[in-house]
Amino acid sequence: MYYKEMAGLKVSALGMGNMRLPRIEGENEKIDREKAQEIIDYAMSHGINYYDTAYRYHGGESELFIGEALKKYPRESFYLASKFPGHMMVKKENGVVGFTSGLTGWPDSTVPGVFEEQLKKCQVEYFDFYLLHNMNENSIAMFEDPELDIIGYLQEQKKLGRIRHLGFSSHVVSPQLLDEFLTRHEGVFEFVQIQLNYLDWKLQDAKTKYEVIAKHGLKVVVMEGIRGGRLANLPDAEMAKLRALRPDDSAARWALRWLQTLPEVSVVLSGMSSFDQIVENVETFEAPNPVSEDEKALLTEVADSMLSWVPCTACRYCTEGCPMELEIPKIIAAYNAVKNGERGRKYNPDQEGEAMDPRRCIGCGACASICPQNIAIPDIMSEFSEMLSE
Ligand code: SF4
Ligand code: SF4
Repeated sequence: MYYKEMAGLKVSALGMGNMRLPRIEGENEKIDREKAQEIIDYAMSHGINYYDTAYRYHGGESELFIGEALKKYPRESFYLASKFPGHMMVKKENGVVGFTSGLTGWPDSTVPGVFEEQLKKCQVEYFDFYLLHNMNENSIAMFEDPELDIIGYLQEQKKLGRIRHLGFSSHVVSPQLLDEFLTRHEGVFEFVQIQLNYLDWKLQDAKTKYEVIAKHGLKVVVMEGIRGGRLANLPDAEMAKLRALRPDDSAARWALRWLQTLPEVSVVLSGMSSFDQIVENVETFEAPNPVSEDEKALLTEVADSMLSWVPCTACRYCTEGCPMELEIPKIIAAYNAVKNGERGRKYNPDQEGEAMDPRRCIGCGACASICPQNIAIPDIMSEFSEMLSE
């Protein structure tokens, strides 16, 4: 494992994301704890020292799991990052905050209440890194609400040593807002976590966002480096081009090596959901081996061929609140594949099972209001249903 600098610390270039841990088949977000623990143990024994979680990952179970999984290791042997879930909150009266419509059943709380709960769930006295979760055009009003004073409260916690380094994450945000936010809060944040990969470099203007963060003198933590697995499973024609150059390398390794070209990137998070993935990723980060200029040009070509795909990252934020219990990210993956001719036009929802049938969508919109990629999910469901009826 090689290491980089961030906020004066030596952080592993590969970080463990805890949003896509192995799940128990058929039990939605439930973590397969035995398999997940094996992954964490492998990570710890191979030099990964950065562990990222959030309040809502795995329906709230991720924080509980990582607290338990890391408990046996000395506290100073790992850095733990979690996030304040303002992006999915609504302000109520007298400092009370509730959760948005897609998350019915989550009890109301307060800003301090959420933070205390997180420390408790993670079984720690402090977070090494703590982030506002998904600052964007929709959530900024909540994060900057003068009465709730979320940022002020977190700075207070930092003074008390319960947060060591403060940052924020953003999935889809305009570079302009990112710049304004950083300017308005100059000196408050020490790092920014963004969605960054060779497809989003152009698709979501991650290039400009990276430059904005660098301009403010901050380091970047990367999320969605493989775009939720999308860049690990390229269309056959694109994969063939990569294989012609490096026959033994997976598509995921290409994506991670592309990220190694960016000097301001400190940690590349990967939400590893299988043992094989962590073994391969650890190997990829054994030493820096960034793509060459020719390889970079080839990846740009690959990205250009995918610009029309629906940009779902399979984060599964949307699945929890779907009243029809649809496997939304899997349906979108099938839609992309059918629409782009990857599987011909072969998709028979009657054989795929109820959870995979877009025709069952009732258009309630609970999913779209929570999607960090701003995908018009009900429209996709409707279009896919029409395609299937043709
Ligand atoms: S709009 Fe359709 S896919 Fe979205 S939550 Fe409602 S039923 Fe589920
Ligand atoms: S549709 Fe949006 S919320 Fe749902 S998995 Fe994809 S990116 Fe995540």
